[in-house]
Amino acid sequence: MNVSAGAGADRVDVVVVGAGPAGLAAALAIARGRRSVVVLDAARPRNAATLSAHGFLSRDGVSPLELRKLGVEELARYGVAVERTRVTSISPLERAAGATRFEVQAEAPGSGLATEWVADAVVIATGLIEELPALPTLRAFYGTSLHSCVECDGWEKRDAPLALIGESDDLAERARFLANWSDDLIVFTNGLGVVSDAEERELAARGIRVEQRAIADIAGTGPEGMTGVVLEDGEVVPRSAGFVRPGWTPALAFAEPLGLATTPEGWVATDAAGRASVPGIYAAGDAALGPQQLLIAAGDGARVAGTVIRDTLG
Ligand SMILES: Cc1cc2nc3c(=O)[nH]c(=O)nc-3n(C[C@H](O)[C@H](O)[C@H](O)COP(=O)(O)OP(=O)(O)OC[C@H]3O[C@@H](n4cnc5c(N)ncnc54)[C@H](O)[C@@H]3O)c2cc1C
Repeated sequence: MNVSAGAGADRVDVVVVGAGPAGLAAALAIARGRRSVVVLDAARPRNAATLSAHGFLSRDGVSPLELRKLGVEELARYGVAVERTRVTSISPLERAAGATRFEVQAEAPGSGLATEWVADAVVIATGLIEELPALPTLRAFYGTSLHSCVECDGWEKRDAPLALIGESDDLAERARFLANWSDDLIVFTNGLGVVSDAEERELAARGIRVEQRAIADIAGTGPEGMTGVVLEDGEVVPRSAGFVRPGWTPALAFAEPLGLATTPEGWVATDAAGRASVPGIYAAGDAALGPQQLLIAAGDGARVAGTVIRDTLG
């Protein structure tokens, strides 16, 4: 509690950081709850790689950009701005008569324009950072031939010759899950041996082959899509699509001054209503739940908004 707000800071009831489904849904419900709110967003959503998002009731197959645009338009009807800027820090301000406030500093990507906000509450909805296996052209196929969310894209790849590529020790469990969508499945461990001999035998009994050799790259081109997995010894294993198991880390560097408690996985630790360990700070969506889906993130944003409104009653 040691920071004084800059003179040029804009004052709002609530700052929402992040304009994914969690942040937009939270801001919509908070605005409808008669609080002034601004959304600050760096516009680098995790799902930018995909053209169609699936499973969002009433919007199945929508482009993520379109979903975001619809959300921004709905917020505009309530006079809520979505500012394109990256939050660089959130600091607690001196308590006045027991009230905690927060100073939120942001810098617009490109222009470097700095802005400052003072708010009674902050909702962190910054999603997470995804790290894909380091293969030269994997990213070119990510979102079209290769996906990470089986529930989101399994239907589109049903019965196709699939690859499951991963370096984490839950790969065998993911393979059993993915086999629900196609029984033509090969698991690639990239030479890291993350599937044990016992798991390999158990998968083999289900007709799932495990390829333990290291991977050199993905075969195929943008227009034709993925055609196979290239192993380091030059063999190409034909596959027309697949799923990768990324590593995920939270995008929370800006919140360091708050000293928020986190879960063992690194997500913002919250109570069941979305309150973080610092009163006045809330978290919603993937930032609090880990990798999820659009509808779950949006629902979580709406749920946390109710908590914010209740906690800020006069
Ligand atoms: C390739 C891909 C495809 C997917 N397909 C589907 C699908 O078909 N169906 C489905 O239901 N789910 C899908 N998902 C999952 C879904 O996109 C996420 O679960 C969902 O977007 C999480 O919402 P969120 O609001 O928590 O975070 P995000 O949507 O990740 O939004 C977070 C926002 O916060 C911003 N941000 C981060 N740091 C800062 C900062 N310091 N300052 C300001 N802003 C910041 C980011 O730029 C981003 O705009 C997919 C994910 C990926 C990666």
